[in-house]
Amino acid sequence: MRLHRSALAALTFWTCASVAEPLPQDWVDQARAIGYEAANSNIAYSVVESLTTEVGPRLAGTEAEARARDWAVSELTKLGFDSVTVEPFEVPLWERHIERGRIVAPGEQPLVLVGLGGSASTGDAGVKGAILRVESPEALQALADGSAKGKIVFVDQVMARTQDGAGYSAAVRKRRETGEQAYRLGAVGALIRSVGTSGHRFAHTGQMKRAGTSDLPVVPTAAVSGADADQLGRLLDRHDSVEVELVLTSEYLPAAQSGNVVAEIKGRTRPDEVVIIGAHLDSWDLGTGALDDGAGVGVVVAAAKALMDAMPEGPDRTLRVVLFGAEEVGLVGAKAYAQKHQADLDNIVLAFESDFGAGDIWRLDHGVADDALPLIKSMTAMLSPWGVIPGKPGATGGPDISVLAQAGVPVITPLQNGWDYFDYHHTPDDTLDKLERHSLDQNVGVYAAILSVALREGVYFK
Ligand SMILES: [Zn+2]
Repeated sequence: MRLHRSALAALTFWTCASVAEPLPQDWVDQARAIGYEAANSNIAYSVVESLTTEVGPRLAGTEAEARARDWAVSELTKLGFDSVTVEPFEVPLWERHIERGRIVAPGEQPLVLVGLGGSASTGDAGVKGAILRVESPEALQALADGSAKGKIVFVDQVMARTQDGAGYSAAVRKRRETGEQAYRLGAVGALIRSVGTSGHRFAHTGQMKRAGTSDLPVVPTAAVSGADADQLGRLLDRHDSVEVELVLTSEYLPAAQSGNVVAEIKGRTRPDEVVIIGAHLDSWDLGTGALDDGAGVGVVVAAAKALMDAMPEGPDRTLRVVLFGAEEVGLVGAKAYAQKHQADLDNIVLAFESDFGAGDIWRLDHGVADDALPLIKSMTAMLSPWGVIPGKPGATGGPDISVLAQAGVPVITPLQNGWDYFDYHHTPDDTLDKLERHSLDQNVGVYAAILSVALREGVYFK
């Protein structure tokens, strides 16, 4: 059977009244059975538990990330993948050292903050300046060159809490651009309200544009916790001037080794046609990266293992699990992957990634050809026992997979519920205890069910 373009359109008009037309009902039944079985395994949780315990934080380019690769090779080999390889590449390495801040006037108070990845260093002496508060990156950009001389810029934009993570992409601009905009304004340092939704008093780190990656250098830049941003705001409402001292020391080190870990289950009848599922192996240095992205690693590895168990003779197509390195510092692993496999991207039938925590999958977004939309509709109906509803076009497939999507690879995003993801994201609070096991299991079930269809010969998404 070939589900593609005109054939697929014809199949849409089948008279047999299946909930999941145009997928044959026995495919749907089989996919659900594989998914139910997969959701019953304990593999995803034990993978995350093992990674976060035995390796812990694993910043891109560090010795810890290298240990994570060794861990992955050993675990994936034990699980019985046909091949497990490391594809190395180099990554710029930035390390934080001392980070502290305080309000020095009108009266002394501590500040809870964390440096942003790629920040310039203040040196041991630190910097001191009056706060110039703006409410958004747009407002910051509108200020004239040199208009914040000697000051510390503070971008105090609140991120919206949403189930689909829509608030994040808007908030990330603040994190990326503040350091270089503050340089343009002549500031000595910069603060942002953390990109996060937490009520706790942790600050959220994350990558900013680094010195040397754009026309402008950057100033020393940190994120303050939401509570500290509120406190600064109240002080600024009461006083003409609020002065802050920042000590943010960090270092750019020579380019370091990173790598993608690639594991395959070889296809039986169409080994050259590949379905990719991805997650990223690196994490920020503060927590143990249980949600970001240990959970994703657990989900894709467990789903692949479920397929292996359900199809001992092998799927029609090749299933490739890619555990990307150096995602957090700028999708470095994803770009290296796309470059290395450039000649081969046409053979990727479908790609998707788990990198949004461990919440339930509730929507199936897609970035496929129009001809494949009836197929997506059927797959969504197939996933209804897990509570999945129809999604939107324009999906990126996930951060790493977005690089492949831009190169024309068909993608889907099985969208997770990210309601509380940004409470923990990039903080010391991203730890194993935050995982909801039943949600992690639901994810594995949905992934396995999708794979059982996508790995079939003749199913096309472009
Ligand atoms: Zn991530």
